[in-house]
Amino acid sequence: MAMHGELQDSHGRMMRDLRVSITDRCNFRCLYCLPETEEAANFYRSKWDALRNPHPAGLEPIKYEWKPKSHLLTYEEIGRVVRVAVGLGIEKVRVTGGEPLLRHGMETLVADLASIPGVRDLAMTTNGFRFAQKAEALRSAGLRRVSFSLDSLDRDNFRKMTGRDALADVLAGIATAKRLGFAPVKVNAVVIRGLNDHELESLADFARREGVVMRFIEFMPLDSSRAWMRDLVVPGREILARLQARFGLKPADQSGQPSETARRWIFADGGGEAGIIAPVTEPFCGHCNRLRLTADGQLRTCLFSLEEHDLKPLLRGGADDGALAARLVEVVRGKEAGHRIGQPDFVQPARSMSCIGG
Ligand code: SAM
Ligand code: SF4
Repeated sequence: MAMHGELQDSHGRMMRDLRVSITDRCNFRCLYCLPETEEAANFYRSKWDALRNPHPAGLEPIKYEWKPKSHLLTYEEIGRVVRVAVGLGIEKVRVTGGEPLLRHGMETLVADLASIPGVRDLAMTTNGFRFAQKAEALRSAGLRRVSFSLDSLDRDNFRKMTGRDALADVLAGIATAKRLGFAPVKVNAVVIRGLNDHELESLADFARREGVVMRFIEFMPLDSSRAWMRDLVVPGREILARLQARFGLKPADQSGQPSETARRWIFADGGGEAGIIAPVTEPFCGHCNRLRLTADGQLRTCLFSLEEHDLKPLLRGGADDGALAARLVEVVRGKEAGHRIGQPDFVQPARSMSCIGG
């Protein structure tokens, strides 16, 4: 039985992890998230043609316009929601986006979140482009953990995947994070068949060499082009077999962490660890303890939720913290059992990952 006022859903899962998107804007155009380049369009087009599988009617690309500033939660409003959520059992907070480092003065938000008693783990996910410039301020503000997105170590392929010629900037960001003692430094790669799957081993080698923790992620149907295809997903099992063959892996002990998204593996020679996040082929919804707050104040109970819950009327309408807490409890109760990728009734959410917050 949940204690009064805890964030427990109707399936018995207790929410401990809140992902906070602080902007829907991004300076990259990752092909699996917010593609806009001709190269990205060509990549997808060639896949649809090759398989004689026309892009399904009704799945038009999401035309996105950035939310006006007045629609975004202020740092004060974000801090308030996080405080209330922490009072209801949230322990982990991740700042994300869009690209979080695009939001002006975000270190003040980080300092505020780091000061909340009960936030046991504060982290950020970034594309890394602006990290080197911001790193010292973020570290002083109390950020200790950072995850970078890095899908390719090849300059041309990186540009193709992200739409930006920015590999060197991201690598500089990772080096800065290491130098300043952020720990662990994690590196996320979304693996897409025919695009960067040939780089699996070199990305793992990079992680081993640099002492960072690699996470390989299956491509999910959350791209704004709505061009996701199952054939482009490299199943976690296949990623594991490749890494196993090359490096030798032993399973990490995860007995105390059932809600962790990554299956973690230790390199047999002691050279660090790699994790595989396989939400498409090996869903882990049964242990999900995550909630998401979008930059425009929508609470989401799942990456794939079709419904969002607007907190702005409460935040801007004079509601007290008790009313806000009651709303959070009510929303969480309706959290869906799991996503329905692969089911005949699956519907891709109306917003892409860049707006939802990964
Ligand atoms: N801009 C930041 C970044 O790229 O790290 C933070 C936001 S981004 C939406 C958060 C994470 O979502 C990134 O690690 C990115 O690779 C991942 N992501 C985006 N679209 C995805 C998709 N369609 N499938 C799987 N992961 C995705
Ligand atoms: Fe931007 Fe991150 Fe999406 Fe890439 S994955 S387009 S960096 S929000």
